[in-house]
Amino acid sequence: MKFSKLTEYFEKLEQTSSRLSLIDILAELFSKVKPAEIAKVVYLIQGRVAPFYEPIEIGMSEKLVAQSIARAYGVEREEVLREYGQVGDLGVVAQRHSGKQSASRIDSGQARMTITDVFKTLTEIAGTAGKGTVEKKLELLSGLLKQMDPVSAKHLVRIPLGVSRLGIGDPTVLDGFALAKLGDRKRRKELEEAYNKTSDLGVIAETLWSQGIQGVRSLDVTVGRPIRSQLAERLPDANTILEKFGGEAHVQYKYDGFRIEIHKQGQKVRLFSRNLEETTPMFPEIIQGILKQVKADSIILDSEAVAFNPESEEFLPFQETTKRRRKYNIEEMAKSLPLKAFVFDIMYLNGKSLIDLSLRARMEKLKKVITPDTVLLAQPGEFTKSVKRIIELFDDAITKGLEGLVCKRPDSKYEAGARNFNWVKLKRHSAGELKDTIDCVILGYIFGRGKRAGFGAGSLLVGVYDKGKDEFVTVSKIGTGLTDEEWREIKVKSAKFKVQSKPARVSSLITPSVWVEPKIVIEVLADEITRSPVHTAGKKGSEPGYALRFPRLVKFRGSDKHAEDATTVKELVEMYKLQFKK
Ligand code: ATP
Repeated sequence: MKFSKLTEYFEKLEQTSSRLSLIDILAELFSKVKPAEIAKVVYLIQGRVAPFYEPIEIGMSEKLVAQSIARAYGVEREEVLREYGQVGDLGVVAQRHSGKQSASRIDSGQARMTITDVFKTLTEIAGTAGKGTVEKKLELLSGLLKQMDPVSAKHLVRIPLGVSRLGIGDPTVLDGFALAKLGDRKRRKELEEAYNKTSDLGVIAETLWSQGIQGVRSLDVTVGRPIRSQLAERLPDANTILEKFGGEAHVQYKYDGFRIEIHKQGQKVRLFSRNLEETTPMFPEIIQGILKQVKADSIILDSEAVAFNPESEEFLPFQETTKRRRKYNIEEMAKSLPLKAFVFDIMYLNGKSLIDLSLRARMEKLKKVITPDTVLLAQPGEFTKSVKRIIELFDDAITKGLEGLVCKRPDSKYEAGARNFNWVKLKRHSAGELKDTIDCVILGYIFGRGKRAGFGAGSLLVGVYDKGKDEFVTVSKIGTGLTDEEWREIKVKSAKFKVQSKPARVSSLITPSVWVEPKIVIEVLADEITRSPVHTAGKKGSEPGYALRFPRLVKFRGSDKHAEDATTVKELVEMYKLQFKK
């Protein structure tokens, strides 16, 4: 397919403000793409040349992209940057300059560039390293731009900048596959299992296109492709947990650090974060630990890494552990602030997926493969039928400075990507009033009057994620409690994601002064969850939705959570119900 055909669809996707029409446009596009190109189309829609978990970034700075535009169209870089200052989007600047070129100046390649050609060059840009990198990237991008029509130039430029504004979530892409290939978007469900096991939309598409739904069904867990994390629900107390589990629970401490999914194949170890980004280079001591202590040719483990002082047997608080999330001075940090990985699950062993085994059977296998040292088994790892024992272990955890417990259902499978009552977190305050925080997504801001107006914001419109619909729904306006410094930070962070109209995946009854693409996750504490007719979270028909009472910002979540990892409507409704179980 021609790249210009693809960007015609990008243009349509960008302009729609309804999620259902996003699916229709995607399905129409997908149905025209051949098996050899479908994975490339899927990655390009996400502004990438590889699945999310591959650390392949096309990564070019705004200045370098501006320079490429300047070179492609024979103008000064300063001129390009000046226009960028005015319109706020280098894509639009490229589109304008491309439009000014006389037809004869544009290379005759314009009509010929295929998706495969463009993908190849972008991959080359991503892979360029070492001496002369800057010049090479510049030459490659400007070379591509010379062969683009104006609309294609606009969308192309946004890719290396990481700001392609299509706003399409993975479930919506899956809806598109289902509609294009299975005739009904509701058949997305049949693709979800493969997605949770592989985290790779490209592989799913390629398989669906070449082998049909049977092929997708047989896609399985593989070393090197992160499995989507199983997540935990909340319940108020030990009694309720045992009741829910049918009488017995497997109890582990809840460690407060980074989740690390460990993949080992022979001597090669790769690590992935909670949101499936590769973190291998950050934690050399864990890699060493795995190589020395884990007896298996191939294995996938789920773990939480915490900074730990072995002499005093003290766990360090999350604020200490988090200092390890960095890209520089890694060896030094590994010495001064060593981590321990507490392994709490095993999903794959020596060529076989274990996710369909019971937790009890998985724990048996896990015990046999690890010789504890840097890598340890999650403690106490006890099976119990006693409420009293769970309470004891909970108190024990709190005394040790841990967050609480995660109780797991002994006969449950590892359900990739699921948040259900097979795992239940018991934190110190979950039995009392609302002490657990909520991860909200910034959806827009509303200009204030007076002092705050100077910073361009008076209150933030925030939402949570409706997983079933792949939509962001509003839950609160946050105005008080933010310092001027925080407002400034919000303004800087959201400038990149400002959009002209409501993004297609946002459902809101409130129209803010400025819409922001759902990208920035903040942790919010509120006094209570209440019902409210003005918010769309959990709103069905004329019934009220759910909202936060007295919300305040705790912190920015940083990069460990994507917008789709924010609190879901389902969780919010459950937290609402928990409030009455005191
Ligand atoms: P999420 O549930 O979305 O990860 P969160 O980051 O706010 O939300 P919590 O909900 O508080 O975290 O707790 C779940 C997290 O606890 C897991 O994702 C994992 O990182 C961590 N964790 C620590 N110890 C365990 C354990 N023994 N079993 C499972 N998860 C554990």
